[in-house]
Amino acid sequence: MTPSATGEFDVAARTLARHPRPLGGDPLKRVDRPVLSLSGMVLNNQTGTPEQLALKRKPPWLKAKVPGGAGFTRLKGIIDEHRLHTVCQEAGCPNMGEGWARGVATIMILGDTCTRACGFCNVKTGRPQAVDKDEPRRVAESLRLMYEGANLKHVVITSVNRDELADGGAAIWAETIVRSKDACPGMSIEVLIPDFEGNWAALQMVIDARPHIINHNLETVRRMYPAVRPSAKFDRSLELLRRVRDQGVVAKTGIMVGIGETDAEVLELMDEVRAATSVGNGVGVEILTIGQYLQPTRNHLPIERWVTPEQFAMYKDEGLRRGFKVVESGPLVRSSYHADHQADSLTDILQSRRG
Ligand code: SF4
Repeated sequence: MTPSATGEFDVAARTLARHPRPLGGDPLKRVDRPVLSLSGMVLNNQTGTPEQLALKRKPPWLKAKVPGGAGFTRLKGIIDEHRLHTVCQEAGCPNMGEGWARGVATIMILGDTCTRACGFCNVKTGRPQAVDKDEPRRVAESLRLMYEGANLKHVVITSVNRDELADGGAAIWAETIVRSKDACPGMSIEVLIPDFEGNWAALQMVIDARPHIINHNLETVRRMYPAVRPSAKFDRSLELLRRVRDQGVVAKTGIMVGIGETDAEVLELMDEVRAATSVGNGVGVEILTIGQYLQPTRNHLPIERWVTPEQFAMYKDEGLRRGFKVVESGPLVRSSYHADHQADSLTDILQSRRG
């Protein structure tokens, strides 16, 4: 990494050089079908004709409800008023209607522009704006309104990657967690964090703020990393989860399926997560989410297969058998899916650790 003229590490420029047509957030729905899919070639376990970048028709079990209702409107008003970015909107989450109607949302901090360009993600890639130092105060204030006005029990906070910052945004992360805990005593806080490029001092700032759950998604199996998470490393993410778990915070991870992995690789990933994170205090990652990958636009990686509800049920059984305490596995599961229910399981998890 080389410093730019401004003295900052110009990670956004590096990413954009690698992806001259940004992957994330580029709404290319009007572009003609490509003659040949490069993504199909990257996904090396495909057979026959390379997959074209068409948006596939969804099977019936993937139909989600259209957002609406009083809870949805109330929450949308608070989010708009405080200029918050939600992942529900940025990533086009299929559960936004259900989640918001229940008063559960995922708030995204550190802006709406990511320095990375993961092949599955619809968040905008580019050069992020300057850090908004007032954001932790505004997030805490809006959470207080949701907590007092809409009986919010659980919130998920996440962020884009800010690889151009020396601490990856960890100081803003820590302040947001501490202020939100102060503003909403009795509410549980889950954070879905980036890998901070393996800057463990930055990670420590987040751990020291003591959120109730720390989630870091592996997103896919080891073999698929170059296509799906080109700027990430499977082992670095495992090490992050190990460090979280080793310091007594409830750890959670999640993957998408249908992007090119096999069932055997999913089970192998479960084994690897348990083995790598159960050292030290011997507990390991406790919560696992598995959901169907949905291609956000034709400019993203294609869907390789529709995983059936029966296969998702098999993943759940296998996950529980391997020692995960909670496994959310289903076509519409996203990492925040039923996160409020998982928070309810927190008490059981903490009790089982003591007992
Ligand atoms: S790092 Fe996260 S927000 Fe950024 S492109 Fe990848 S998945 Fe999307």
